[in-house]
Amino acid sequence: MGIDLHIHTNASDGTLTAEATMERAHEAGLTTVAITDHDTTAGLPKAEQRAAAMGVELIPGVEINAGQGSHCHILGYWIDADDLEFQRALAHFREARQTRIQEMVKKLQRHGLNLLWEDVLTASKGESLGRPHIADALHQKGYVASRGEAFHRYLLEGGPAYVPSRGPTSQTAIRTIRQAKGIPVVAHPAASHVDQEIPSLVDAGLMGIEVYYPEHSPVVIDHYRQIAARHHLLVTGGSDFHGPGTGRDRLGSVVVPPEVLAAMKRRRSSS
Ligand SMILES: [Zn+2]
Ligand SMILES: [Zn+2]
Repeated sequence: MGIDLHIHTNASDGTLTAEATMERAHEAGLTTVAITDHDTTAGLPKAEQRAAAMGVELIPGVEINAGQGSHCHILGYWIDADDLEFQRALAHFREARQTRIQEMVKKLQRHGLNLLWEDVLTASKGESLGRPHIADALHQKGYVASRGEAFHRYLLEGGPAYVPSRGPTSQTAIRTIRQAKGIPVVAHPAASHVDQEIPSLVDAGLMGIEVYYPEHSPVVIDHYRQIAARHHLLVTGGSDFHGPGTGRDRLGSVVVPPEVLAAMKRRRSSS
């Protein structure tokens, strides 16, 4: 049996529809998957239908971009997507993200660049907005030769167009997931450099760490297994699939042991 608990669709920044993602998961031999789109559950209803038709177990999930100071992402499993408070919170997070990108576009305009909000929207192709879309719009307008150049010249912290992220704090993200009856898990901890923060995240209600992840070597896996054990946290894992053309296109590329899923289910039924 194959398990992948970290998957994006085009409801956020993936390139495949929820249905197509489920079909790929089935073809890849996965039996349990979680859809974890950024700040939205919009892909879940269609994914559920498709998954049920193919006999794939689907765990409803989300990935909240917490971004004040750090760039911590919090995954949520078995969240109640029908919870109105939860949906209101997600809408608020998405809105804060859009406002930030709008302010960055205004800064670029004041800097003398002929870049319109519509250009960024076009570049985003309906994905949840982020700095990469400003970079792509700058590229399309010929201001830079690459996405990387856009970041280095304009968009990085300290750059002329930089505006700090206004996402929720990690603590708020964790509480939002707990209030929607979900299991909050810190995503890709090595990439987010969150080791020092973990005790305070546990205090806020964190229940797990994403231990199995494409960039995690056996040494890193061992490191996070130990941290999880120390704080009595669940361990989880997934590929962070985003679809063809994204560089993260291998569903099930990370081996997630079945006992991981069993432990999550035990914790869920006991809380
Ligand atoms: Zn993430
Ligand atoms: Zn992700």
